[in-house]
Amino acid sequence: MNTVTHTEKLALLGGPKTIQSEFKRYNSIGAEEAQAAIKVIESGVLSQFLGSWHEDFYGGPKVRAFERQCAEYFGVKHAITVNSWTSGLIAAVGAIGIEPGDEVIVTPWTMSATATAILHWNGIPVFADIDSETFNLDPRSVEANITPYTKAIVVADIFGQSADMDEIMALAAKHGLKVISDTAQSPGAIYKGQYAGTLAHVGGYSLNYHKHIHTGEGGILVTNDDEIAERLQLIRNHAEVVVGDKGVTDLSNMVGYNFRLGEIECAIGIEQLKKLKGFVESRQSLAEALSDGLQGLEGLKTPIVRSDRTHVYYVYPMQLDLDLLGTTRDCICDALNAEGVSVSRWYQNIHLLPMYQRKIAYGSHGFPWASDICHRDVNYAKGICPVAETLNDTTYMGFGMCVYDLGFNDVALIVKAFRKVWAGLDQLRG
Ligand SMILES: *Cc1c(COP(=O)(O)O)cnc(C)c1O
Repeated sequence: MNTVTHTEKLALLGGPKTIQSEFKRYNSIGAEEAQAAIKVIESGVLSQFLGSWHEDFYGGPKVRAFERQCAEYFGVKHAITVNSWTSGLIAAVGAIGIEPGDEVIVTPWTMSATATAILHWNGIPVFADIDSETFNLDPRSVEANITPYTKAIVVADIFGQSADMDEIMALAAKHGLKVISDTAQSPGAIYKGQYAGTLAHVGGYSLNYHKHIHTGEGGILVTNDDEIAERLQLIRNHAEVVVGDKGVTDLSNMVGYNFRLGEIECAIGIEQLKKLKGFVESRQSLAEALSDGLQGLEGLKTPIVRSDRTHVYYVYPMQLDLDLLGTTRDCICDALNAEGVSVSRWYQNIHLLPMYQRKIAYGSHGFPWASDICHRDVNYAKGICPVAETLNDTTYMGFGMCVYDLGFNDVALIVKAFRKVWAGLDQLRG
């Protein structure tokens, strides 16, 4: 005997749309930030940095106060602000003493700047594969990619969850490598009782407009290493003119930039930092409600959070079992998008960018790969990171939690849309 199950017609096929109006955009900036910014403007001192060995080499009062508060918050000896996290990554690679031609192992599942920071010091990015559950570097693949030329590892704590730092740091200790963590997306995430970003030799956070907390543009470097901290401060602020007067003797990579963050941004940052915990906790409870609501949908894998760490859900990552679903990721994503849930069907496979495929970075003659500094022919061909490639090509699906200011009602609507699509899978198969 057949039971007749009533399934609604999917919006993709002309049925009613589950979510009628766009979700409210996330906006972390409030009256406190506006007040703080106005006070700085009224003071007339929008930046107090001086690019020479002088008291103001370290910036003005808001820069210093924000750095002190970040160091205290994240539980590190040094916090150093920069004008973007891309700048922070560049400063970090320079500060750990990368030599031209040194190989640095990096994840392909990240924003491109994680790897270009290596190229800025003429280091050679080497891509290792990721863990299929956490999307972070797989320590086994990192180990397999270590050569006599490897000097460092850049991990990304992607989507909101820390990488496997104990394993990564153990590998680094065994092979004498330095570790940088790109925690742009995961400020406030915990790994074994400590903040993600603070477990590497140097790490840090982005303060760009899209992140959990922001100052428009900006970044914060964190480290417990006095020497690295000094080198970061020098690279941030015209190192080459400061080293002489400051009495710095190690001149390697003391080629400076202007990576200084302004007083207005730091005044805003001070207010944002106070709100970080609340933002993160609210996003966590919404994500947990979403995971609860999506339980039991066959062929859908919700985020896997390791028991020794927390997830702050910059992105809510999912995976599809296409054999079980009997349809394609495109069909599912199109159906969800039509119901009003904006999901993305790709993230990043940065090793496949034209720059790496054609090995053209500085100039037009293949520098640094085609030069004497490069020790060997590094492989960037499709196939070197099968897990990251399969996820991107076929099974990954993400929802940008940090894009919206969601409430529990919104989460209930998202769940409803998913359940409708899953109940209507037959319509997609047809
Ligand atoms: C946002 C982001 C960056 C770059 O940060 P900016 O502050 O925009 O320069 C780097 N890595 C990851 C993983 C990011 O998400």
